[in-house]
Amino acid sequence: RVRPLTCTETRRGDQRVVHSLGDGTVHVSAARQNATFGFSAVFDAGASQETVFEGSGMRQLVELAIDGFSCTVFAFGQTGSGKTYTLMGPLTQTQTQLAAPGLLGLMQRSFACLLEQTQSCGSDLVLSASYLEIYNEQVRDLLSPGPPCALPLRWSKTRGFYVENQLSVDFESLETIANLLQQGSQRRRTSAHALNRHSSRSHALLTIHIRSRAHHLPMWLPQPSTYPSKQGTLCFVDLAGSERVKETGSSGELSVEANNINRSLLALGHCISLLAKPRGKRTHIPYRDSKLTRLLARSLGDSGITLMIACISPSSRCLSETLSTLHYASRAQRVTTRP
Ligand code: ADP
Ligand code: MG
Repeated sequence: RVRPLTCTETRRGDQRVVHSLGDGTVHVSAARQNATFGFSAVFDAGASQETVFEGSGMRQLVELAIDGFSCTVFAFGQTGSGKTYTLMGPLTQTQTQLAAPGLLGLMQRSFACLLEQTQSCGSDLVLSASYLEIYNEQVRDLLSPGPPCALPLRWSKTRGFYVENQLSVDFESLETIANLLQQGSQRRRTSAHALNRHSSRSHALLTIHIRSRAHHLPMWLPQPSTYPSKQGTLCFVDLAGSERVKETGSSGELSVEANNINRSLLALGHCISLLAKPRGKRTHIPYRDSKLTRLLARSLGDSGITLMIACISPSSRCLSETLSTLHYASRAQRVTTRP
């Protein structure tokens, strides 16, 4: 998704170097750089939030999650490229101030779609949500009250990687889940204020768990001891900005942050590169290299269905970051899974 030039970019006369040709390709052209990339969908600056929701396959992803699949959508790109805008819409200043409905992001649209389906299913679905962030390789709960504290990330044979003691909140209405998102994001932003704009320095993961209660069998049939049920997940990932990845000269806190983002985004890129190889040539996938890849192991690996949204700025000043994002996305595109 190419965002529009911002006011600042327009004012200082930045050139547009990214153009969508309208056939699923995006063309980057600058003085000595010329490259065309093809994707399953390309959204230009004029694309509305609605268009992105309908054209990206997000609706189908929600339906697959209801059907019991592990679905993930992640937004990737440098800081300021539109990741949060795409997922959540423009950020409002206060909790009471709501974004215009037309500007709501993929998350709120997915919640609405999910609850619509739930209601039409006669409420046989049980929904719950958890909301975490990974900051400096520490996992924190964004839903539990009180100051953020680090939670341990564990592995078990039955559950795979999981976060111990993470809060999972049941919800039945659009209002409740919208509030949870709002509160969690607020918590992420409040600490961001104190901690050097860390919201763009942290990865945020909101996961919806969808359990469906199976219908009881008629009385005259033999009753199984446990009822079969489906359990799907829908995970939204707002990744930290990628731009400081190469910057190793920074000092102190920034350097620690940069190294951690560096490590996790590189680990993610590495896993994606290995997963993109033909199945027979795949080697061991090093999910354990970072907390991010551990938490995303299920969605990246064999059984998940993943939608990746690469967010880019059209400005000439962002050229090298834009190219690196597009290369990253091209690699991700080659990953195949067996959901
Ligand atoms: P990121 O989360 O990648 O750091 P943001 O989502 O915060 O970036 O976007 C940066 C700025 O650009 C914000 O002010 C946001 O409102 C604006 N913006 C991003 N994408 C769009 C878009 N598609 N249309 C209009 N404004 C956008
Ligand atoms: Mg953001």
